[in-house]
Amino acid sequence: MSKPTPITIAYGDGIGPEIMEAVLKIISYSGANIEIETIDIGEQKYKQGFTSGIGPKAWESIKRNKILFKAPITTPQGGGYKSLNVTLRKALGLYANIRPAKANTPFVKTNFPDMDLVVVRENEEDLYAGVEYRVTNDIYQSVKLISRPGCERIVRYAFEYAKNNDRKKVSCFVKDNIMKMTDGLFHKVFDEISAEYPDIETDSHIVDIAAARVATNPGQFDVIVTENLYGDIISDITAQISGSVGLAGSSNIGDEYAMFEAIHGSAPTMAGQNRANPSGLLQGAILMLNHIGQGDAAEKIQNAWLKALEDGQHTADIYDESTSKAKLGTQEFADEVIKRLGDKPTTYPAVEYKGSKKITSKFGISKTVKASRKEDAQLVGVDVFVKHSDNVDELAEKLHDAETDKIRLKVISIMGQKAWPIAEHEEKKYPYIDGYCCRFKQVDEKQPLTPQDILLLLSNLTEKDISYSKLEYLQSYDGELGYSKVQGE
Ligand code: NAD
Repeated sequence: MSKPTPITIAYGDGIGPEIMEAVLKIISYSGANIEIETIDIGEQKYKQGFTSGIGPKAWESIKRNKILFKAPITTPQGGGYKSLNVTLRKALGLYANIRPAKANTPFVKTNFPDMDLVVVRENEEDLYAGVEYRVTNDIYQSVKLISRPGCERIVRYAFEYAKNNDRKKVSCFVKDNIMKMTDGLFHKVFDEISAEYPDIETDSHIVDIAAARVATNPGQFDVIVTENLYGDIISDITAQISGSVGLAGSSNIGDEYAMFEAIHGSAPTMAGQNRANPSGLLQGAILMLNHIGQGDAAEKIQNAWLKALEDGQHTADIYDESTSKAKLGTQEFADEVIKRLGDKPTTYPAVEYKGSKKITSKFGISKTVKASRKEDAQLVGVDVFVKHSDNVDELAEKLHDAETDKIRLKVISIMGQKAWPIAEHEEKKYPYIDGYCCRFKQVDEKQPLTPQDILLLLSNLTEKDISYSKLEYLQSYDGELGYSKVQGE
């Protein structure tokens, strides 16, 4: 027998320990050749003062074994704590989160029997970068970060996933009618990369109507690729409408590390009652076994699980009098799966994983990224966030006094809307918020600005007693604007 594959395991919080126990029992009877190393992460570690819920020993184990199989973790609410899930994804470079959702009708009730889709969610960027500021007393800001390399690798991963799993279509979900730069980039990259996969059908949707389509007609989707926040929301919807959030597992894949889990959280109110469905975590285990090349064990478990479902062996979340024969606790359900290891389902099609290939996740830096790094950025102005809640015309007067020969006040806005200058026919925006964004631009387009020009402006502002809390450089990249225009500018 070959050497067992070492796996780092975390039992998690809430329902975590009971579902992990059930899943490990099934794995141990499946013939899987793994060696487990348990780490302690989550609530206990937070309480011990580790603000990310993880200590050095756990990191060592994950870095050594490179594969983490974890039950859900409770994230303490409030400031001072960092989400462990987000920390793990970012620290391990797990950029792709793959969340399959499939109907298991007729034995698991769903309104969508033809549903069989996979959400490929970008896992590191977007609002989950967790970069936030309090800009003034009134205004809080969360920064949405989207990079071209990040878009390229997640979109390429989605197409590679589709190609290797015989999926026919990849759909892109974005909100680029509003976020023209960030979501616009994601959409643009999707269009570029889709051209390299002519055999795969593609379409693009605005995410809000797409969510409604997913919730009412999920059968029209096959692979969905999207940004971090949209993917998080969409995949909870897809899991729930396939039968229960307790049914879906997910993989988190990077160049070097991989993490497998259920998509649901630690459901603290259910903890310790032997009521939780271990299926989501079991699906995570199946994804993991396939990933480490143990497709035989993965196939055996999946077929036994399908057989248990079609035999009406159900946990409370999917129990229905018309299709269920037994309402089982967490451990009892695991035992029913174990009894069926080696059996094949008779109503559901049996799965076959033996030939399944591992998808490449290392794509490197593309030529487009390399070329775009050579583009010249020209400094054309600066946005200065000024704390002020009084008359905007008076503020504009003071700001004019701070202008230099090279840089002039162009526009003042409140929450992205123009507040100055206001033409006769335009509605005046009265400040109910204590922050204005004051946009200064270069006087002469042929005379590029330097950081010293900005410093001179800032020093003039300070002299005029104008207090500012934040700056944003305005740049153009080979003539293309590197900032959004204010609404009405
Ligand atoms: P949750 O997914 O834990 O629970 C929501 C509801 O879904 C539960 O009340 C329960 O009715 C149902 N549910 C969830 N898992 C189930 C299962 N296995 N079987 C049957 N029913 C199940 O979401 P929440 O209440 O928003 O979050 C609780 C905690 O989990 C929070 O601290 C959150 O931060 C954390 N969380 C962790 C992860 C993770 O570790 N990957 C993911 C999401 C949420």
